[in-house]
Amino acid sequence: MNDQSKFSPLKRGATIGILGDGQLGRMLSIAASRLGFKTHIYGPNKNGPAIHVCTKSTTGPYEDLDAIRDFAKDCDVVTYEFENVPEFTAKAAMVSAPLRPGLSALTTAQDRLVEKTFLRDTAKVPVAAFEDITSIFDLTRAVKKLGYPCVLKTRRFGYDGKGQYVIKSEDDVKTAWAAIKEQPAILEGFVDFKREVSIIAARGKNGEMAAYPLIENVHKNHILHTSTAPADGHGGKAQAFARDILKKLDYVGVIGVEFFEMKNGDLVVNEIAPRVHNSGHWTQNAGCIDQFELHIRAITGWPLGQIQLKHGVQMTNLIGADIEALDTFAHEPDTFIHAYGKKEVRKGRKMGHVNRIIYVPRGKLNR
Ligand code: AMP
Repeated sequence: MNDQSKFSPLKRGATIGILGDGQLGRMLSIAASRLGFKTHIYGPNKNGPAIHVCTKSTTGPYEDLDAIRDFAKDCDVVTYEFENVPEFTAKAAMVSAPLRPGLSALTTAQDRLVEKTFLRDTAKVPVAAFEDITSIFDLTRAVKKLGYPCVLKTRRFGYDGKGQYVIKSEDDVKTAWAAIKEQPAILEGFVDFKREVSIIAARGKNGEMAAYPLIENVHKNHILHTSTAPADGHGGKAQAFARDILKKLDYVGVIGVEFFEMKNGDLVVNEIAPRVHNSGHWTQNAGCIDQFELHIRAITGWPLGQIQLKHGVQMTNLIGADIEALDTFAHEPDTFIHAYGKKEVRKGRKMGHVNRIIYVPRGKLNR
């Protein structure tokens, strides 16, 4: 559909459609309602975290295109809270409402080969060396080219280290190919990084951009454990890469950009998430516009505003049984609890997070 409406901000009371019923949809919905918008959630789970806090919901599979079309007809804009929304679903929604971020951001982020090629050749940001793999012959050749160790990653549906295999020697090649079920993949050179950092940034109407300071991320069992912001080091370079990516994607909304930082301070982009991002949850308690509100502002054509942190924050994910300690967290000073309302506690499941205020000298807050 014609997206001229991009330049006229949505009015209070307009309806924001969200594809996905998880915790990101929940926190987007809360932010939208604060700004006076209604939300309509579409997702497969009738008791998903977002359903508890929205104006309206439709429960159905992403393959039910009639239901998707009806959902989009009810919305003034449609966004998504996860990057694996099928392309045909997004296209069906776009018949009746503008999709933000747009289709190309979604399809770029869904496929690691497309993503890495875009980052290297179009956005011109540094990425690890990579090769396109469709057969064991490709893999054998690529391993020789990139050397050991190297990382085999499926092109699609990889997250939290799933669909990945580190190849350390010739003995691992066949095992790795079988482990990823011989799916189309990329082989990446191993990055000997010092730490993992990320940037949350946004682009709004007329190309206006905003970015939060650098975030340091620590993973446990391949799942994000803590995000601390502002991180030491200069975020300026990372923010500049994020801006290049936003611009080249003609992006509208919040994006998460994950980096590896090398020992010498150089940055390598690992991946992009075309949505609000787990490493940006700390923004909810930093005394500034949070990433959820920023996304809603961007997709509704509102001004992005000024990002000015009042203090530092460390976010800790509550995974599985961690959620049982809520009572303890409730006694801690300067600790903010965000629970996702998920009934069933499962190992590895993101159940909530806590944001703890940390002291950062004023001069280092907004670099
Ligand atoms: P990803 O699914 O691409 O975000 O990767 C998950 C995790 O695997 C990252 O957070 C890194 O810790 C590790 N990893 C991924 N790619 C590489 C690489 N090329 N070199 C070294 N470690 C990697």
